[in-house]
Amino acid sequence: MKTIGLIGGMSFESSAVYYRQVNEAVRARLGGLASAEVLMHSVNFEEIVALQKMGRWDLAAKRLADVARGLEQAGAACVLICTNTMHMVADEVEAALSVPLIDIIDETARALKAGGAKRPLLLATRYTMEQPFYAERMKRHGIEIMVPDEAGRAATHGIIFDELCAGRILDPSRDRLIEIIKTAKADGADSVILGCTEICLILDPVKLPLSGYDSTTIHAEAAVEFALTERNAVRAA
Ligand code: GLU
Repeated sequence: MKTIGLIGGMSFESSAVYYRQVNEAVRARLGGLASAEVLMHSVNFEEIVALQKMGRWDLAAKRLADVARGLEQAGAACVLICTNTMHMVADEVEAALSVPLIDIIDETARALKAGGAKRPLLLATRYTMEQPFYAERMKRHGIEIMVPDEAGRAATHGIIFDELCAGRILDPSRDRLIEIIKTAKADGADSVILGCTEICLILDPVKLPLSGYDSTTIHAEAAVEFALTERNAVRAA
């Protein structure tokens, strides 16, 4: 079994889900008491959020590239950035590695295509919904994403940072997210991407008005597939 390297802490609420999911997936596939070989470097999210707010993606890239290098040196055979937002700097992190970076956007796109989804709504942070990196990468896979309107984006971003990353799961916020999904369905969306690694804490992807694609589970499963098989994880060109 290959060792999975996780860059976590963004936030630790979702890193805990990753840790559980990679282990559960290995146990499900190998049986008995099998568990994953995992290295996690969990960063101080407050520092990363400060860099996000200042728009210092260059410094965030350097920080995550250093963490990725450390994971590789410690024995990781692949690296995952356990957040969609920080895939903004995935190219810089990948450049620091000689082992594969398993990309959450590529893996989500592959899952959408396998499920026949063509017009997904993206629920994510403002950075992921509004900066071009996510939509452009999806386009390379032939997928055109939809995003909520301004009020919907503001609500989703607030729920992620003020509640989910802070460990608070609130029913009115779940209702608001479902309302956003219903609006998108009426506007032609055929699926919904839980495109922030904390959204699975509040929404169950199989109980939504549209078919749900949870980026956390998809990413964790891709890591386990890499760890247990000959599959080579290649980022889309
Ligand atoms: N975990 C979140 C994501 O998947 C948001 C936290 C962050 O800004 O990295 O985008």
